[in-house]
Amino acid sequence: MSARVVIDSVEFARAGEQLSGVAPVGALARLADSLFDAGGELKFELTGGSDSRQRLKLKLAVAGSINLQCQRCLGSLAFPVAVQANLLVLTGEAGGETAEIDDLDGVPANAQTDVWSLVEDEILLAIPLAPRHAEEQCSPAVNAAGKPAASPFAALAKLTQERSKN
Ligand SMILES: [Zn+2]
Repeated sequence: MSARVVIDSVEFARAGEQLSGVAPVGALARLADSLFDAGGELKFELTGGSDSRQRLKLKLAVAGSINLQCQRCLGSLAFPVAVQANLLVLTGEAGGETAEIDDLDGVPANAQTDVWSLVEDEILLAIPLAPRHAEEQCSPAVNAAGKPAASPFAALAKLTQERSKN
């Protein structure tokens, strides 16, 4: 297992550094609940700099794909990732509150900023709450009992039929 990538967020932004790499999907523990497996790849590119008001920021781009779990058939659902985020480095000097006013995400000024964790934060924001295949791509649904899982739409249709009988 490769070592985690750690930067000093203030120094990184101030020096306008650049860093790119791959965050192993399997190493992102908070993401695990949403995943079908640890397949896929997350390439990231992190660029330090400052905005027009001289506030330090980190620009993070993540691209790749992860395998989410389809909430209908519980199968693997390839989810393409393409995220860009501007993260304000919250030094405390200029006031952390400005991040909220500008609707920018912030990262704490921290000499031990975990880059994979930043990547993970962005992915968690980007993935859908209940990911599902498109209807025609959903694998033949078989539930734990070995029976075809009832489609919620079929159940609804049945309900509507029964109601119309009364
Ligand atoms: Zn599915």
